[in-house]
Amino acid sequence: MLDMDRRIQPLRLTALGVLGVCLILAGPWMGWWTLVPLAIAGAFFKIAGNHTEGSAKPENYLFAGWAASEIMIAASVALTGGPRSPALAWFVVPLVTLSARFSVRGVVLGVGFVVVMMTAVCLGVDAAGVIDNPTLLLAPIAMLVACAILSTALMQSDVEHRSEAVIDPLTGLLNRHALRNRTNELAQRSAVTAEPVGVIVGDIDFFKDINDTHGHAVGDAVLKDLAYLLRKELRAFDLAYRIGGEEFLLLLPGADLREAEEFAKTLHEAVGSAKRGGVDVTMSFGVSSSGYGGIFDYDRVFAAADAALYDAKNSGRDRVCTREISEADGAAKHGADSHARVAI
Ligand code: GH3
Ligand code: MG
Ligand code: MG
Repeated sequence: MLDMDRRIQPLRLTALGVLGVCLILAGPWMGWWTLVPLAIAGAFFKIAGNHTEGSAKPENYLFAGWAASEIMIAASVALTGGPRSPALAWFVVPLVTLSARFSVRGVVLGVGFVVVMMTAVCLGVDAAGVIDNPTLLLAPIAMLVACAILSTALMQSDVEHRSEAVIDPLTGLLNRHALRNRTNELAQRSAVTAEPVGVIVGDIDFFKDINDTHGHAVGDAVLKDLAYLLRKELRAFDLAYRIGGEEFLLLLPGADLREAEEFAKTLHEAVGSAKRGGVDVTMSFGVSSSGYGGIFDYDRVFAAADAALYDAKNSGRDRVCTREISEADGAAKHGADSHARVAI
């Protein structure tokens, strides 16, 4: 939802600009006051946008910004002739963006909200006119509903395609394609907050043997079970990715090396605490973190975590190893097993 909102933002500015130009051109006839509701709607979007990042309920802010723009349009319609207002069709503009950010339920609620508002404004300004000629209200309502249906269908197909591209169908975890966007975002954020980002790479031990002994279907069940376990243990803002056949990566915003290590130990223990997919499984984990004060450089932190995983595998598997990032990590990424081995 936030990703889509970010994509819409520049276009929303362009749309507000087009409406602004129209109002300026109409100024000599309608007066310049019509720019005021547009400016208020723009301000609401800005305020809502400022509150969405980092909020636990960003949808509430997005919906409030959206509702404010429809209310401003309702006010403009009320002041410019109600059912005969040239601004009546504008109710559709915010509505087509609704399906980009909300579920079908949200769209239905939004359409209901706008239809009620349109009806109230038209009847409030000129009830006799609407009763005399109901088409004045019915035609714009039909246009509104038709636009909402079409934009929702288009958007759902887009979301489906995008989900297929970033979600691993077996485990439901995000895949490698999703990783780069997120790491870029975290790098930008760390430049502002100077907060660390922890990276854990986990790999199932002797997974080939599990497949060979129990069959591929059991191997798949193990992968699903472990993916579920990882997701269950994560905090709301951590993310888990399946980056290879039996290799997982966790991004932990705010976690320094010690915290990321603690978390990896918790996972390590949880993996071994019960059978997974019906068989006994162990995992090895490599951990690193960008540390406080620096910009999150994913490639370096991943290289260190990957080198730590290499350490864990080399020192007997079924354990957590950590590595600090260092200048040598670029080389470690390609398999160098140089220094700083810390087996736990
Ligand atoms: P190590 O402890 O060194 O990690 O050994 P390993 O056997 O886990 O590692 P290796 O890389 O030799 O084997 C990984 C195996 O994972 C080989 C491949 O057949 C299996 N695999 C990869 N993807 C899937 C999958 O989607 N389902 C199943 N069942 N197996 C998979
Ligand atoms: Mg393995
Ligand atoms: Mg592997």
